[in-house]
Amino acid sequence: MNMQGELQLGADELAVQRWRADFPILQTCVHGKPLVYLDNAATTQKPLAVIEAEDRYYRHDNSNVHRGVHSLSQRATDAFEAARVKVQRLLNAASPNEIVFVRGTTEAINLVAQSYGRSRLREGDEIIVSGLEHHSNIVPWQMLCQQVGAKLRVIPVNDAGELKLEAYERLFGPHTRMVALAHVSNALGTVVPVKAMTDIAHAHDVPVLLDGAQAIAHVPVDVQALDCDFYAFSSHKLYGPMGVGVLYGKAELLNAMPPYQGGGDMIRSVSFEHTEYNVLPFKFEAGTPNVAGVIGLGAAIDYLSAIGFEAIAAHEHALLVYATRAVEQIPGLRLIGTAHDKTGILSFVLKDAHAHDVGTILDHQGIAIRTGHHCAMPLMERFGVPATARASFALYNTRREADALVAGLEKVVELFNT
Ligand code: PLP
Repeated sequence: MNMQGELQLGADELAVQRWRADFPILQTCVHGKPLVYLDNAATTQKPLAVIEAEDRYYRHDNSNVHRGVHSLSQRATDAFEAARVKVQRLLNAASPNEIVFVRGTTEAINLVAQSYGRSRLREGDEIIVSGLEHHSNIVPWQMLCQQVGAKLRVIPVNDAGELKLEAYERLFGPHTRMVALAHVSNALGTVVPVKAMTDIAHAHDVPVLLDGAQAIAHVPVDVQALDCDFYAFSSHKLYGPMGVGVLYGKAELLNAMPPYQGGGDMIRSVSFEHTEYNVLPFKFEAGTPNVAGVIGLGAAIDYLSAIGFEAIAAHEHALLVYATRAVEQIPGLRLIGTAHDKTGILSFVLKDAHAHDVGTILDHQGIAIRTGHHCAMPLMERFGVPATARASFALYNTRREADALVAGLEKVVELFNT
């Protein structure tokens, strides 16, 4: 981990107080204590700009999109399509037609597995995933394997929580048809070298899907520079509303893929004999979308762009360095995931306390962390633990909150030693 970020801490703390004021929920008390929200990898809190964008839409513009000639429908459609362009710019995609709105990362991956995977893979084909994956980047591929008779191959993880790249290269063979990788691990925070790994896959003529759920708010994402074939993320991890996500896909691939679901909006014409599908991206957007959510996602992107993604990443890194040093001093605490390149996620186990007890005791002090297997059961097994406690940072977290976490953990240790 790069320790230099620490020097910027003083300046960041001033900015962070201004950013905090944008998040109404941070005024909440839990068990009579001010909320210390450190469960950002599960979902981020929403700034007023996002809450108000959804509110405004429902008060003034609520209407279905792409259908009506009336003014409200036009306004709703314009705002919906403007949000698509904001996502395109965020990802640096070549065209807004490569941005498909879905329910979340999970749906995006299922779409690719069922549409691309089912139409291209055959018995004996192989899909490479990594040992770091969230269940949503394992189970859709497993389901595909069962449907077509393909097999999963898994990139092993080292003791620091990094992928073993030599082993990755050795997994490629004549039947490899797809690589699906987390850009950042949700359980450990490991940043995966996805550009280098994509290049290796392409050298074998294999397309790459990146699960960006934990990356999108924390590391720069440029899909053209990465040259990935698909990129998936969820709005709610990017300070936007729940129930909205994005699938980026290269136009040539999306164009060649069959639709994932059938229904309204994804068609050009329908008769009982024949249906002609719509053009991209509508071919993959059957039914009424979450219009308010997409508009809220657009507002989140505007909000974050105004702050600057680099400033946010620098702040979170400084906080990670500070908190890592502090928790390492706690007797009996074992950090799980010590990769060189990490986002602001601290996963750990405490010697005598179960992770759930740690979470419950911290909750009584107003501190929200996540405990459990983090939807990454194979990764927990790799580290020989049933669960970890996970604190994850966002732009509004402060050094004082990291101190509160450490004080809370010291209390846990005290309780379990008496
Ligand atoms: N992938 C990763 C790495 C995640 O962290 C998550 C959510 O925690 C997901 C996928 C699934 O995201 P969603 O539940 O928003 O579809």
